[in-house]
Amino acid sequence: MTQHVVDGKEAGPASDVAEDDASGASGLSVTQVVAASVLLGAAAVGVALAFGDAGPGPFRIGWIDGPWLRLVLFVMTCLCGVEAVGVRIRHDDDGEAVEELNLLDGVALLSVLLLPVRDAILISLIGILLPYLVRGIDRVKVLYNLGVYATAASATALLVHAVMPEEGRFDARLVVAMCVGTAAFVLVNLLHMALLLTAIGGTTPGEVLREDARLSVLTAIGTVGITGTVLAIAVAAPILLPCAVLPAIALRFAFAASAAKQEERRRSARVLSFSQILASGPTREVAVESFLSMTRQEFDAEATLLLLGTGTGMIMDDSSSGARSYDPSAEVRRLAEHADLRVVESPDVRAWSRVLTTPVMLDGVRVGTAMVARHGTGRFRASDITSLRSLVASLAVTLQNAEQTKRLVEETSKLRAVIDQAGDGIVVLDRDGAVQVWSPAMLRITGVPASLATGSRLGEVLDLESPASDAECPFAEGERRLRPDAPQLDIDIELVRPDGEARSARFSHAAVFEDGALVRDVVIVRDLTAERQVERMKGDFIATVSHELRTPLTPIKGYATMLLKRGDTMTPEKRQRALDVIVSRADHLGRLVEDLLSASTITANNDARHPMIAERADLVALVDRTREDFLAAASRVRIDTSDRPQVVGDPTRVVQIISNLLSNALKYSDGDRPVHVSVCEDGGKGHVVVRDEGAGIPSDQMGRIFDKFHRVEDPMVMSTGGTGLGLYIARQLAHAMGGEITAESTLGQGSTFSLSLPLHRPEHPADRGLDLR
Ligand code: ADP
Repeated sequence: MTQHVVDGKEAGPASDVAEDDASGASGLSVTQVVAASVLLGAAAVGVALAFGDAGPGPFRIGWIDGPWLRLVLFVMTCLCGVEAVGVRIRHDDDGEAVEELNLLDGVALLSVLLLPVRDAILISLIGILLPYLVRGIDRVKVLYNLGVYATAASATALLVHAVMPEEGRFDARLVVAMCVGTAAFVLVNLLHMALLLTAIGGTTPGEVLREDARLSVLTAIGTVGITGTVLAIAVAAPILLPCAVLPAIALRFAFAASAAKQEERRRSARVLSFSQILASGPTREVAVESFLSMTRQEFDAEATLLLLGTGTGMIMDDSSSGARSYDPSAEVRRLAEHADLRVVESPDVRAWSRVLTTPVMLDGVRVGTAMVARHGTGRFRASDITSLRSLVASLAVTLQNAEQTKRLVEETSKLRAVIDQAGDGIVVLDRDGAVQVWSPAMLRITGVPASLATGSRLGEVLDLESPASDAECPFAEGERRLRPDAPQLDIDIELVRPDGEARSARFSHAAVFEDGALVRDVVIVRDLTAERQVERMKGDFIATVSHELRTPLTPIKGYATMLLKRGDTMTPEKRQRALDVIVSRADHLGRLVEDLLSASTITANNDARHPMIAERADLVALVDRTREDFLAAASRVRIDTSDRPQVVGDPTRVVQIISNLLSNALKYSDGDRPVHVSVCEDGGKGHVVVRDEGAGIPSDQMGRIFDKFHRVEDPMVMSTGGTGLGLYIARQLAHAMGGEITAESTLGQGSTFSLSLPLHRPEHPADRGLDLR
């Protein structure tokens, strides 16, 4: 009652089955299975004709015989081979093999019971061949099915005739003969199907036999029942024949309903997987490919195409495994031009017999055309047209979404670039204050990486310079102060980075509220450390300079007033002393102003180039010259001149530098402590090393003592005078002469400053009297 057949899909001359020559689990290729079935069929027919009973069939129906009986059986066989009568159920996912309920085995059994073996086989074979030819089924598939059918029919004929005598009666022997014959028919079918499916791949013969055995047994029972009934009624009460056919018809429709249900399930599964792909937000390419693949299966199509506005398109057909881009021919373009959904018969394109085309519309605008093309006789049903329309509509929406997603991704990456490149830190907090975005600049400012910050609250990842309780935490305070009517807020915070460095930063909040509730807070974080430092330096500078200017001004004003008021009465010595003090303080003021000018010149030029002379200089002589300026402290200064290096430099500037180092050493150590000055030559350089036994410099300040205006002492409580410019100017001058100043210090034990200058070489331009000014 069922027959396993290779799919009757009009697959064109290059059949999938014939082409797919890969060997399956059985070790046979599809071609070999087809060839084997043909050979076996031919052999079976040969055997049946040679050894089969030549006499008439065991049963005779009185009212019809001879050519009429043969004609009726032939027509019945043909009808069973026609698609409209049979019901097909797809057997594997690709639909290459189907099971077909078509009462063919029942008709074959009837032929065998009523006709001689030869006639029964010939009528069965020709009867099945004719509908196949009409249906335009591929030759290879026809050969395979004929081979299977020939083997099955021959085996049935041989067995039935062997069991039943010529004068058959309605007895147990008939039942046995029918059972044996049907079993042979079904078994041959089943074995062939197992081999074929195994050769196609993905299964084993055992699996196929297990899966299909039950169905085969049931259909065999049905076949025996119906054939026996029809035979008995045809012989005994022909008038009741329609009653015998009715159960078969009912069975056919029940099978058809079940097949339709199964097909519907497949279709739903396909549509579901297609919609899942669409819902996953695929790229344009993935959406188009899955649409083409899905519609090709759905409509059992030779090819599916999608032409988009740009003129080019994508196609999916047998010539490649997936979708490929496609430049449509003029005929295909013409097909695509039609405004509405339609079926074009014999479109004269490739070997297509009919094409279903539908416009792809988006917001009422046509953006392309989808086409489903078929070979052979398969017609499009109304449900196909409706289904294609809705699939195309889903695709159009997905394409639009894909386009929007693409644009969104582009926009997002632009935004990302802004966030990544911004000099200020950018932080986005969610409604709970947890960090969602932490720009790279935030790592620079706070030392906290995004991986650590994301998901945490600001107060949890940032250390404040003066730790606050939860209630006083400035971040929590900021959150409290942000309101829909005041969504912006600046909070200045002193932070301590994980590496211990202190930073000042301004957190500028811009909160987004929805229905009065905060949903997002975008915070721009500006590093104010440098600004704060400049501000502090300005303050320090003013305090220092006013202090420094006031110090010499006080004695100048005091002595000048004294001279003015009592000059006439003063002794010449006292007057001389007063004038000396005024001159020395005025000199000090002059030096101070000179320092300030030097510092501002260096800053304005932004480099260390000073107009200076580069000439050969004797370092020991310059140290001696400097010492003369410190006669008051002569007892403390110990000079050691083991070498007598000749260097290249500007003597005045060298004296200025040594003088600064010496005055610092005297100033920052107790009045009774000695200061050692040594001159030596080492590593191609001449060195002046000034060492004191004073207070020393804290290690965290060492890096900054050469900065402009930097003083280790707090300017508000300072006990020593100074502007914080001496070392800065000294180092700049040393650099300008190709030298360097370095410092070492141990707190509480003293400091050592070294000036190094390049040694004089005879070939140096200075030796030839060149002025480098
Ligand atoms: P100032 O005019 O303040 O002396 P300098 O630029 O010469 O300016 O020195 C910068 C700072 O370095 C000083 O304020 C002082 O704190 C520190 N300093 C310089 N030399 C010494 C030293 N020999 N011993 C201790 N501290 C020193």
